[in-house]
Amino acid sequence: MAWADLPEALQSVGLLRRSLERGRLGHAYLFSGESPDLLERVARELATTVNCTSPPSRSPAGLAVEACGSCSSCRRIRQGLHPDVHWLRAESKSRVIRVDQVRDLIHSIQLKPTESPLKVGILVAADRLHVNAANAFLKTLEEPPSRSLLILLTTEPDQLLETILSRCLRLVFPGNDAPDSPQKDWIYSLASSLRTEASNKSLLPRYTLLDRLLQHLTAVRAASETAVAERSPGSKHKDVEPSLREQWEEEAKAATEAEYRLRRRRSLQLLQWWLRDVWLCTTGQSKDLLALPDLAYETEVVAGRLSPHRALANIQLLEETQQLLESNVQEALVLEVAMLRLEL
Ligand SMILES: [Zn+2]
Repeated sequence: MAWADLPEALQSVGLLRRSLERGRLGHAYLFSGESPDLLERVARELATTVNCTSPPSRSPAGLAVEACGSCSSCRRIRQGLHPDVHWLRAESKSRVIRVDQVRDLIHSIQLKPTESPLKVGILVAADRLHVNAANAFLKTLEEPPSRSLLILLTTEPDQLLETILSRCLRLVFPGNDAPDSPQKDWIYSLASSLRTEASNKSLLPRYTLLDRLLQHLTAVRAASETAVAERSPGSKHKDVEPSLREQWEEEAKAATEAEYRLRRRRSLQLLQWWLRDVWLCTTGQSKDLLALPDLAYETEVVAGRLSPHRALANIQLLEETQQLLESNVQEALVLEVAMLRLEL
């Protein structure tokens, strides 16, 4: 396990890594998403990373950015046996996290770490906090003990008290699906075509990018339609009332749009992840950190044409573009403007 083994969580993992790199990790996080398993994996990886005793890379502030996976600390955290990493789960019978469980956790977090840089408390299914337990927890969230990190996990963030939500840095994770390989094929073919472009001064690489992206999104839309059509009742029941058929068609249309948006977001996340690799290369970071190691050569060629400042601006541009696309703007226009502003 390493950050790179969480490709389905590209964007949020990217944010966490950047916080580690800049030495600006928060004290309390809320990870929300559809997959409890993914949330636990990310929390475990973060707990492992911050406490790894021989990390392959550190931030300028001295924080581990990546876990080695093999030191005693890494191994014990992964096995759930580390004295400074506490997991708190709802009791299986009542399915509630009780106030005394929370008090125990707070007590252990307040003690100095026995051997690691940070004490970590992970609350699984934090939406299961009994209201008394949640209240007992507030004070700790407000003034977390030094050298502590709290991570709350939930698939139902709406069930949490606003007072808890507002005290945590929130990261949203996607569902369980790993990016499918057509997604990756796209970015690979893009990167290899950019490798042969001569310079970032010409507009050509940007038009290449725009063209590849639009082609890819056309395929993504078709795949979304197929996926929804296969799930739709209309595919199984041929002889139905016209009004019912009409309703199914309407529902399928809405579902297709939602599916397409999800897949589009993931495609752009992958691009964002690659741009981040390019930026890492411009700063002379170790190649071990690359999220897409298969593209190391292409990444290096493109990085050779850019300053770190410019490479970072590319990532920010993509982040803005993702936000714009979430609000119902004209997709083609937003993408064209964004892609032509990228420097590659
Ligand atoms: Zn380690």
